[in-house]
Amino acid sequence: MIRIESVTKRYPGGHDALKGLSLHVEKGEMVFVTGHSGAGKSTLLRLIALIDRPTNGQVIVDGQNTRKITRRRIPAYRRQIGMVFQDHKLLYDRPVFDNVALPLIIAGVAHREAARKVRAALDQVSLLSKEKQFPETLSSGEQQRIGIARAIVSRPKLLIADEPTGNLDPDLSLEVMRIFRRFNEVGVTLLIASHDIALIDQLGCRRIALANGSIQVEEEEDVVAEYVERLEAEKDRWPQ
Ligand code: ADP
Repeated sequence: MIRIESVTKRYPGGHDALKGLSLHVEKGEMVFVTGHSGAGKSTLLRLIALIDRPTNGQVIVDGQNTRKITRRRIPAYRRQIGMVFQDHKLLYDRPVFDNVALPLIIAGVAHREAARKVRAALDQVSLLSKEKQFPETLSSGEQQRIGIARAIVSRPKLLIADEPTGNLDPDLSLEVMRIFRRFNEVGVTLLIASHDIALIDQLGCRRIALANGSIQVEEEEDVVAEYVERLEAEKDRWPQ
């Protein structure tokens, strides 16, 4: 579903946010990208969403090389991808229903069809009863679920989320992850940037650790640490 091939992203000023990064996410996977603040997680998601373009290398999403997608075709490309952000990015002057309907209205979906899809999406995040309310009357966890409903209303095959639980307490975070997992169970591929290691460990999904724009080779570090530990343990038995 996602093929990142030797991608470098250099921002104006010369800072390399991603350095020759390669990674693959298969269709139907639920994968977390972890790493310290500034590791390059958001940059990676921005390249996949075509909010930004790589300086070098290829980003291929569902067989489409983003390099070949012209400006004019970006909106159509983005409609295939659901995006969830830490700060929800809701429109506070419109009710929940309108917020979730927005991607469908932009895509020109007929009103009756849009209404059916909006209610199905709200049902999936258990907020059907709140469609007439304004976002600010909802809790932070509910607002995030509205953001998720909006992201999946067009039934995307791929969902990307940037620190979706960044502002939520552990219980609400787990609830959001359970919602993501339910989408994953019906075939949606998910790539989620998060630094909440404890939460990710509970879920047991694949984890890609970024550090300073590259993949952190955790296994290698673990193998070395294990080796040193074994040597230490055996030291007493060495001939003097
Ligand atoms: P993360 O999401 O892991 O915190 P980011 O992808 O946001 O990391 O940032 C990676 C690096 O790129 C950071 O050093 C950040 O300061 C830098 N960066 C991000 N966006 C820009 C930008 N628009 N212009 C210049 N530097 C940026």
